[in-house]
Amino acid sequence: MLTAPKLCFDRYIPDDHLSPALSLGGPSGDPSRAIVLFRKLWPNGSTLRVRFLEGTSAQQQLAMQQARWWSEVANLRFVTTDATDAEIRVAFDPNDGAWSYIGTDCRSIPTNEPTMNLGFQDGGTSAHEFGHAIGMAHEHQNPAGGISWNEPEVIRDLSGPPNRWTVDQIRHNVIEKYSQDQIHGTAFDPDSIMLYAFPSRWTTNGIGTHANDVLSTLDKSFMATVYPGTPVPIGPIGLTVNGPEVEDQIGVPGEEDVFAFTAAEAGRYIIETAGKTDVVMKLYGPNNPTQLIAEDDDGGVGTNSRIVRSLLKGEYRVQIRHYSRATGKGPYRISVKRTSV
Ligand SMILES: [Zn+2]
Repeated sequence: MLTAPKLCFDRYIPDDHLSPALSLGGPSGDPSRAIVLFRKLWPNGSTLRVRFLEGTSAQQQLAMQQARWWSEVANLRFVTTDATDAEIRVAFDPNDGAWSYIGTDCRSIPTNEPTMNLGFQDGGTSAHEFGHAIGMAHEHQNPAGGISWNEPEVIRDLSGPPNRWTVDQIRHNVIEKYSQDQIHGTAFDPDSIMLYAFPSRWTTNGIGTHANDVLSTLDKSFMATVYPGTPVPIGPIGLTVNGPEVEDQIGVPGEEDVFAFTAAEAGRYIIETAGKTDVVMKLYGPNNPTQLIAEDDDGGVGTNSRIVRSLLKGEYRVQIRHYSRATGKGPYRISVKRTSV
């Protein structure tokens, strides 16, 4: 027996009727590509706070990992938080499917309710839902794309597990939404993460789609034009070799602090943290802020980090985060010393 695909369904706030006029076309005005609902976009450069209402650390990490696929290409940042009014609030109810409100609609949802549910996280599901959360609609909704649904097949499949939708739900979530589409299927970006997989028997022309588990080239280039520019990194904060300790803190869970220091001469250096916060340290360089040299969790006093290394002359970066990205925060101190030992 063929299994019906697990489908994401869009959530709309009451009385909000999707109109094709709200959609924005692709980079060259080509409306046949990925679409966003521009009235629902976050301000460019936004930091969107993500609060997990439940879920295991593995579930939460997978969600954040795929959320960051978008922040790598779009001028947005995602940080985890326990703040009640986080813009994105994620539940993991296995009986409620996968869905998300679209873009700034999340702001209309009471803060004790989720704005996203990840009832399953197969493949790129989390990235798909975060795509909705930053304003993207389903590729099928594209007024310039088109599917001629084989309605009896669609209804039969979606009535059964795992979706178990009523006929009304199926019409509302799949068929009616797309029935205005008049254009042939080649107008799609068949690789978009926003296109879900459906079997060829659902269409009258027998053309189905495959599941997309990663962002397509067009997804990336399109969202880079919707949220243009690169997020401005915070810091780095300067450290002086053999200078005073610098006090800082992990202010919100998931925050990463970056420090910089100059090794004026080759030699042995000690970089360490102090305090009660369980931080993890990474050392990058020389003169290359992305080349990882060393990493340490608890090599210092208590749960502090300590890296002792022979370094070449040059510029170095130190990144500090909490051991627990999901919940950890707190103050710490950091220093760098030259040593002869
Ligand atoms: Zn969806």
